Amino acid sequence: MGTAKPDIHRTDNRLERADRDVVVLGIAIAACLLFVGIGGSAISQIVRSWLGYGGSPDQLLVSAMLLNIALILFGWRRYRELAQEVDERRRAETQARELAQTDPLTGCLNRRSISTIMAKMAEEASQQGREIAVLLFDLDKFKLVNDLNGHKAGDRLLVEVAQRVSAIIPGDARLARLGGDEFCCFRAFDPSNPEDVDRTAANILGTVGKPIRLYGTIAEVTASIGIARTHKGLPFSDEQLIHEADIAMYHAKNTGRDRYSWFDRSMESELRVRSELETGMRRGIKEGEFTPYYQQQIDLDTGELVGFEMLARWHSPQLGEISPEIFIPIAEEIGVIAELSEELIQLALQDAKDWDPALILSVNISPVQLRDPWFAQKLLRMLVEAGFPPERLEIEITESCLHEDINMVRSMITSLKNQGIQVSLDDFGTGYSCLAQLRSLPFDRLKIDRSFVTELAEDENNLKLVEAIVSLGNELNLPITAEGIESEKVLQLLRRIGKMKGQGFLYGMPQDARTTQELLASRNLIVSDASKAGEVRTSPTVKASDHKIVG
Ligand code: C2E
Ligand code: MG
Ligand code: MG
Repeated sequence: MGTAKPDIHRTDNRLERADRDVVVLGIAIAACLLFVGIGGSAISQIVRSWLGYGGSPDQLLVSAMLLNIALILFGWRRYRELAQEVDERRRAETQARELAQTDPLTGCLNRRSISTIMAKMAEEASQQGREIAVLLFDLDKFKLVNDLNGHKAGDRLLVEVAQRVSAIIPGDARLARLGGDEFCCFRAFDPSNPEDVDRTAANILGTVGKPIRLYGTIAEVTASIGIARTHKGLPFSDEQLIHEADIAMYHAKNTGRDRYSWFDRSMESELRVRSELETGMRRGIKEGEFTPYYQQQIDLDTGELVGFEMLARWHSPQLGEISPEIFIPIAEEIGVIAELSEELIQLALQDAKDWDPALILSVNISPVQLRDPWFAQKLLRMLVEAGFPPERLEIEITESCLHEDINMVRSMITSLKNQGIQVSLDDFGTGYSCLAQLRSLPFDRLKIDRSFVTELAEDENNLKLVEAIVSLGNELNLPITAEGIESEKVLQLLRRIGKMKGQGFLYGMPQDARTTQELLASRNLIVSDASKAGEVRTSPTVKASDHKIVG
């Protein structure tokens, strides 16, 4: 919508018309006065002549009266036109004002208009001893809906969300769309009953979370809400309120999404840390601060070393050691995960080229990378450039990938497998993958999440769960890897449950490339240049007792 510009021509027209209207009014008034003046005698002359009492009426008087009547009729018509014009102008002005205040897609208020409306609401609220709460929310993973189903579906989703939220917020609350998928609801509340605002937030989450039908598909989205409020005695600033609600919304997103958080001062420092991490990461990737570490994977039955999982490590000179649990999600959000991962995979392929050819290299792949239609090609190019056989590479994708477009995931897995790469499902048990999905996707392996394995000996439920996963794997013909083996006791229990591979601190912490190389060299598992060039080596057999040297 464009901003209103002064229209010179329209202004001139209006002035002209105003002049004309004054003349018309003058003529009409004069006509009325004349009519009163001459009408009386002319009419009586005409009536008398019709009845046959007198001679014919004075022709001049009659003509003057007819002219008079014509002028009055003309004036009346002009008056009616004028009234209509005024009406139309008023309607157009109201419409223009409404358009300037509302978001054309959803019909909600827009960002420009909330400032004055919120200030007015705050003033009225403070007179009644009430406060204002701002509930700022956006849709989690809205970009995904847009990318997968197109912008038309994205727009449809926004309209539906606006309608649903408008229907459940209190009558005196207002809803605005600030842009993209960001909405802002503001309402007055009784400060002695802030739970009322909690209820509004919970209702918004509830209504947004219900499945939404979009041109043939059904989208399930959630929202994250940040809440900020005014405080008695402190000056009102809509900008400050929205800023605080934004920080709180960010906190809600970071603590798991599909929830609401009230603003709290401590959140500001959280935001500062986050921004330092982002800048640090962008710089760190360029400076090569990220390195691959390797954790052993063991055949639990034979105790044989079968490969390594590559795990990213970041040592930042400014921020110290940062865990991948922190930097991987940030890399995904700020769009550097592919760059980071490709760099690490290239380094890992170089490292693993020297290892015994029987050893598998596992790498973790983010769901974000799976969305890249060129991912399989990129990986193949890296393998060719490094001269690394695809059969020795295993890709680990997390269960959360299965929430993505399942057909896309299937075709990606299939094209990876066509190149000879193995694909395993990581962190199994933490997500929501159903049996049908598992059956329909051609995985080569299931990795049981470490949260079930680590406490296996202490927790009867975890034991049952691991047993169930192992029997599911047997049924689906999927080999199993258990991660997070920290004790001999857990190892023995797992061995009893079934045949599987395993990894964990019991066998060693993840180590850098050099330490891994030294370990392998000590076991004669580093290939000579000649064998790298294609000579076949026999598969090594390393016993479990050997593994405990490391760690
Ligand atoms: P993951 O793929 O499930 O990796 C296993 C995690 O368990 C690693 O954490 C590893 O250090 C830890 N671990 C191994 N043995 C034990 C044990 O006995 N006990 C306990 N408590 N933990 C153990 P890490 O290195 O912190 O990585 C965390 C997660 O970050 C990984 O989980 C993976 O999802 C992700 N990640 C790491 N590197 C990359 C990467 O290069 N790309 C992507 N996309 N994700 C990565
Ligand atoms: Mg993994
Ligand atoms: Mg895992």
